[in-house]
Amino acid sequence: VCGSMYKTEKTFRFVIVGGGIAGVTCVEQLSSQFPDAEVALITAASLVKAVANFKQVSKTLEEFDVEEQPSSVLEEKFPNLTVVQSAVKALNTHTHTVQTVDGRTFGYEKLCICSGGRPKLLTQGNPYVLGIRDTDSAQEFQKRLSKAKRIVVVGNGGIALELVYEVEGCEVIWAVKDKAIGNTFFDAGAAQFLIPSLEADKPEGATPCKRHRYTVEPAGASHTFTEPGSALGPDWHEGIVLRGAEEVSHRVSVEYQCEVDSIYTHQELLKSPQQTLVSEGGSWPVYVKLTNGKTFGCDFIVSATGVVPNTEPFLHGNNFALADDGGLRVDDHMMTSEPDVYAAGDVCTACWEHSPLWQQMRLWTQARQMGWYAGRCIAAHVLSEPIELDFCFELFSHITKFFSYKVVLLGKFNGQGLGPDHELLVRCTKGQEYIKVILSGGRMMGAVLIGETDLEETFENLILNQMDLTPYGEELLNPNIDIEDYFD
Ligand code: FAD
Repeated sequence: VCGSMYKTEKTFRFVIVGGGIAGVTCVEQLSSQFPDAEVALITAASLVKAVANFKQVSKTLEEFDVEEQPSSVLEEKFPNLTVVQSAVKALNTHTHTVQTVDGRTFGYEKLCICSGGRPKLLTQGNPYVLGIRDTDSAQEFQKRLSKAKRIVVVGNGGIALELVYEVEGCEVIWAVKDKAIGNTFFDAGAAQFLIPSLEADKPEGATPCKRHRYTVEPAGASHTFTEPGSALGPDWHEGIVLRGAEEVSHRVSVEYQCEVDSIYTHQELLKSPQQTLVSEGGSWPVYVKLTNGKTFGCDFIVSATGVVPNTEPFLHGNNFALADDGGLRVDDHMMTSEPDVYAAGDVCTACWEHSPLWQQMRLWTQARQMGWYAGRCIAAHVLSEPIELDFCFELFSHITKFFSYKVVLLGKFNGQGLGPDHELLVRCTKGQEYIKVILSGGRMMGAVLIGETDLEETFENLILNQMDLTPYGEELLNPNIDIEDYFD
């Protein structure tokens, strides 16, 4: 596709594709370690994402703010960096070149693909189905929500969870395929703990969460192309008002264990035999039939069913090994199956033998960790130095906020892959905290901490040191014991 036909404009030592957190972190790592090497960041969007106020909370837990910046800020910081604002449309791994949509060809010695993912849509090209991925799509969502009386949200991951909680003034029908809400992050017990928050009014001036903030590009800013922007991260809804046309606060009904069977416009419904299935009267722009047999009319549908890795531009003519989820397979050095091509963040699938306490989830922190580690691996390889898998891949850990509660997830927090012989200990105070510990053979394998439990560091240590906790039994969660002192 590219190569001999096109004249290579310039060859860089390192080329990184994608200005999201993974790409920018990789750029920062390489540009600072090799101040004399020419580095290029090729990215489709006009703004790049940067990590700010990074804080290591404990051995593996980290928190940081995310700032959207014009790419010139990066170029000022690193004189050896060139930012090319265009999308990559083809890659030729034989000639070591990438071609951009604006018709340029660049050579590389080492390439790192950090092109992220895009929302998995229920159907392509249906104007009533929206996916939320970047600032632009979030703004489109907000605009349409302001005129909406009822929406259907499909999906059960983090985005759906935040969305149904944040939307006000609009009825929400939430279709989840599992028995409980938030299945990606929680079990049925935690879901039960959270459900009342959906029914109650939101706490007055609910403590705003300060972790990640977005500057939303002002309307009219130069945004004339439609290349995919970076994924929003936590708090993507902050600063944008998610309010519908009605005067209600929360009105969420959950439809459990169902998926979307079909989507009809009003006209199509009138012509179809399904019309008898409409749950109630009224005329809506679009109707969703769920696999539980119910049909709901609504203003639009939000598809929040996960992401598909953005791999297409890179595949043609090359021989990348892909994982089942569509990601570029990477080994423990973040290398793809093509020579000199690395990948990090949402676009890749970690295919090394994982630590028993870690799993990949397409999250903000993992994008940063992978981008940084990929940069270090590239550096080690060009310097012919050995490098070991980073400690951050030892234990899965994630801090976030759901329904105004602080949420900490550690290790195999949902018993992932542990088989039937694991044990659960749960402590729950309604409206205050929910603590769940997963034990296997007397050792702590994971934990879910909701609320201000202050247990994250102690539990992280207990998981990392794999101490036999059998003698402590249920005392582990006894609220009258100061567990921190206990294990000091
Ligand atoms: P991205 O941030 O997607 O960046 C990809 C970059 O590649 C972009 O700059 C894009 O413009 C560029 N690009 C794409 N294709 C090309 C191409 N062909 N050529 C050149 N450039 C290209 N994570 C959490 O941890 N907590 C949360 O609460 C959370 N909430 C989320 C809410 C929403 C609505 C969404 C969508 C995601 C959320 N995530 C959350 C996930 C998190 O945002 C992602 O895991 C993370 O941003 C991935 O970073 P990345 O750098 O791999 O990819």
